[in-house]
Parts: sequence; C-alpha cells; structure tokens
Amino acid sequence: MLFEVLKARGYRLVGPRIRDGAIVYDELASVDALPAGWTDEQEGGKYRLREREDGALFRYAVGPHSWKKFLFPPMMRLWSAKRTGNAFELAPEQEETPRFAFIGVRSCELHAIAIQDKVFIDGKFVDPVYAARRKNAFIVAVNCSQAGGTCFCVSMKTGPKAQSGFDLALTEIIEGARHYFLVKSGTDAGAQVLAEIPHRTATEQEEKAAEQVVERTAGQMGRAMDTTGIKELLYRNYEHPRWDDVASRCLTCANCTMVCPTCFCSTVEDTTDLTGEHAERWRKWDSCFQVDFSYIVGGSIRASSKSRYRQWMTHKLATWIDQFGASGCVGCGRCITWCPVAIDITKEVRAIRETESLRLSDPQIEGRHLGNT
Ligand code: SF4
Ligand code: SF4
Repeated sequence: MLFEVLKARGYRLVGPRIRDGAIVYDELASVDALPAGWTDEQEGGKYRLREREDGALFRYAVGPHSWKKFLFPPMMRLWSAKRTGNAFELAPEQEETPRFAFIGVRSCELHAIAIQDKVFIDGKFVDPVYAARRKNAFIVAVNCSQAGGTCFCVSMKTGPKAQSGFDLALTEIIEGARHYFLVKSGTDAGAQVLAEIPHRTATEQEEKAAEQVVERTAGQMGRAMDTTGIKELLYRNYEHPRWDDVASRCLTCANCTMVCPTCFCSTVEDTTDLTGEHAERWRKWDSCFQVDFSYIVGGSIRASSKSRYRQWMTHKLATWIDQFGASGCVGCGRCITWCPVAIDITKEVRAIRETESLRLSDPQIEGRHLGNT
C-alpha cells in the first residue's frame, strides 16, 4: 500500500533488490521486487547472499550501493556546446529533477546523507543538482534488524536506530507467523502519506518489540572502533610505520571511495567530437586514490600508495572533523567488505592506537615494520 500511495504522489521508488549476486539499490516496480527471504554475509573482502526462512524484507546489512548515486550521480553531463562560426554556443544541461522515494534507508545512511548535505548544500557553494534532488526526496527509513559482519555504526553513534532525517521510519517485526511493521512519521509529508495507509496505534507490547529489534541488532556489530581522541591520534601519527604496512597491501583500486556513502570527490572531463563542431563537459566521481587526483603543477603530491591511503583515512576520521564538524565515517562497513584485499579501517585505527603507546614507551620500536593485528 505504501508503494501505491507514493507512486500516486509522483515518486519514483528506489530501494533494495537483488542484482548481480548482491542487494543493490535500484528502481522498484512493486513491493515484489524487494529481496524477501534473503540476507547477506559480509566480512573483509567477502560478500555473499543467503536465503532465509522467515520471508523478511529488510533483514540484511547495507550492500555495495548507497543513496549518493541518486543524489550525486556518478556521471552527468554539465553542458554541451556547438560551434557557430568562430564561436561556440553553450547549452547548459536541463534536468527535470526526479522525485525519488528512497525505500529502506538505514540509520548510518541517514547520517551519510546528512554529511553530504553539509558538503553540497550547507557550504559556500551549493551543488544545484544535489540540492534539487535532495529537496524532492521522500525518505522511508528502516531500523536495522540484522547487522553485517563489517558494521560498526554503534561505535560511530550513527545507528542502528533511525533517530531523525526520515519522513517515515519502519521497524520490521517477525513473531512466529506474525509479520508486521511499526511505523513512525518524522515529517508532515510522512504523516500525510501515513494517513493514506490503513494503520492503527501500536500497543505498548508492539513498541517494546520494535525496541528489542534494534537492541538485538546493536549487540550484533561485526566491528568496533574506539573513536576516543581519534583526530588527535591520527594527527600525532602522521609518520607512523603502520602507513607503510597498509601501503604494502593496498592496491589503490579506489573501491573504498566508490562504495563509501560520504565520499564526494568528482572531476570534470571535456570531450569534443572528431569534427570539432560539438563539445561536452561531464562530471564524474573521482577518488583520492587516483594519482591524478592530487596533480598540481609539476606532478602529483601523493605519488605513493602510502600517502594516498593515509590521506583517505586521515580525511575520513580527522581532517573531516575540522572541515565539516563531524566524522566522515558513519561505520557502514562497505569499505571493509568491498576492499579486494580486506583492508579494514577499524583494524588500521586499532593498530595505530595500540602501537603508538608501544612506540612512546619503547623508542627502539620506532621505525620497525609493524605487522597486522
Ligand atoms: S584500501 Fe582496499 S579498496 Fe581501498 S584502495 Fe586500497 S585496496 Fe582498494
Ligand atoms: S569509511 Fe568505510 S565504514 Fe566509514 S562510511 Fe565510508 S565506507 Fe562506511
């Protein structure tokens, strides 16, 4: 019923569905497209779908996609130009802003959207595409009922319960043969949609059952990260030997930045056709793991994989705080699951934290290659 109400209001429904062996975010024609009875198993460098018997619609952790691909498209043409005699005529891209209804947004993802709002809307330069798509979006959150092996939202204080930033928030509850949703509205728009769907006030017991779902999920976190003084920790350890260790494993493939829901870097590319009559400018996602990303006059300032990994992790967990007043990591675990060599941001932080005290108490350890922990 929710799907019909949203469609009738002109929304394009986007949410989880199975494609290419993963649960991805894509257009949903109906509720039947949701991955009913499927879950995922995640570990460092590992992702696998598994069938479950309870028919749950949302009992899995986040997959490789995030909502940023709908708010901040991976590729988009900014303008095109055609030759007119000795000049060019520019044609800015005219986009009819889509009205997305995002179905199944997790709490960590609400935090990631809030972070991207700071980047694209709250700063000096507003990204018009992001701002328009964001304004139009209707968000249906889902409180997590199963954490993945690489999740650590509890450490980052971003989940598993959706606290704000949604129009509607659902908790999926399965009690034997009884399968139902507890719904909370977070905005007037959410309340209006809810008013069109048959519902009743939840009983105290149903409210309690919903709380228990979230509590159980909070206890299932596959990872943890101690964030105490993390900014200062990383600033103090810019020359820590662990960066050499991680560089010896990192392929600089950029997967971690592509799957990260908060990464926002892009580049522009200009192309012309062979006649020189037509030119276009495209914006594409980019990554700080690319050598060219830090190219300035004379070359790249981050030529080594060590400097690129250090830049990425230090930005996420330290300089981001100075830049935007919040961590750039929401603990979704995607960068761990989708790293082909299973580099784990939580382990890297732990290794630096644990060996920093060793280093400080035993100066001879300074400079020694520190192994995986
Ligand atoms: S940390 Fe992993 S995912 Fe990220 S660039 Fe290195 S190898 Fe690729
Ligand atoms: S850094 Fe990794 S765990 Fe943190 S938000 Fe990005 S992908 Fe998720």
